[in-house]
Amino acid sequence: MAKAGAPKPRPAGGDGPPVPEMIPSRPTIKKVRDTAAGCRACHLYRNATQTVFGEGPSKAEVMLVGEQPGDAEDLAGHPFVGPAGKLLDRALAEAGIDRKVVYVTNVVKHFKFEPRGKRRIHAKPNGAEIAACRPWLETEIALVKPRVLVCLGATAAQALLGKSFKVSQQRGTFVDSPLAPRVTATVHPSSILRAPDDDSRHEETARFVADLRRVAAELP
Ligand code: SF4
Repeated sequence: MAKAGAPKPRPAGGDGPPVPEMIPSRPTIKKVRDTAAGCRACHLYRNATQTVFGEGPSKAEVMLVGEQPGDAEDLAGHPFVGPAGKLLDRALAEAGIDRKVVYVTNVVKHFKFEPRGKRRIHAKPNGAEIAACRPWLETEIALVKPRVLVCLGATAAQALLGKSFKVSQQRGTFVDSPLAPRVTATVHPSSILRAPDDDSRHEETARFVADLRRVAAELP
C-alpha cells in the first residue's frame, strides 16, 4: 500500500509532472512544442527517441490528427514523414489540399512499440497513455483554431469524438463538436498500406481521397 503523503503513482507510469502542469502560462505553438520536448508525463518517453510534436502553420485551416508517431517519425522527430505520411501527401495533393495549409499532429506524441528482433513494431496506445498526452493536443487545437479538424483512424476519432464513434460507418461525415467549426474522421493512411492486395489498396486510397475532397470543399 502507498505510504500516506507519498506522491500518487501516475496511471500511465510517467515520472514527470502531468501535462497540464507543463503547459506555459502564455502558450504559443513554439513554446508548447519546446516544452513538450521534455515531457515525461507517461512512460512512453523512456523507449522512444524523442517527442514528435505537431507541425504546420500556427493558424492552419486544416488540422489532421493521427494516433502516434511511427518508427520513421520517431527517428526524424517530425510527424507523418514515413510511408503513411508519403501516402497522405499524395492523397492531399489529389484532393486539392495544399499541404502548406495543413497542421499535422497525433493524439500521443511518443512512439509506442514492441521490439521484434531488430524491428520496432507499432503498439496501440492505451486509454491511460492517451489521457496523459491529450492536453498537448487540446492545446494545439486551442492555439491553431483550425476551420476543419480531421481525425485519422479509430484511435484519434474515439479520443476526440467519443468511444461510440465508428470510423467504418461514419467516415467522411461531419459531426457537431466544440473542437472546430467542421469536424470529421477518415481512416489512418497506415491502414491503406496494410491492404492485402493492390486492388484493395487502390480502392481504399480512392475512398481516402474522396473523404479529403469533402474537407477541401470546406476551405475558402
Ligand atoms: S506520450 Fe505524451 S504524455 Fe507521454 S511522455 Fe510523451 S508527450 Fe508526455
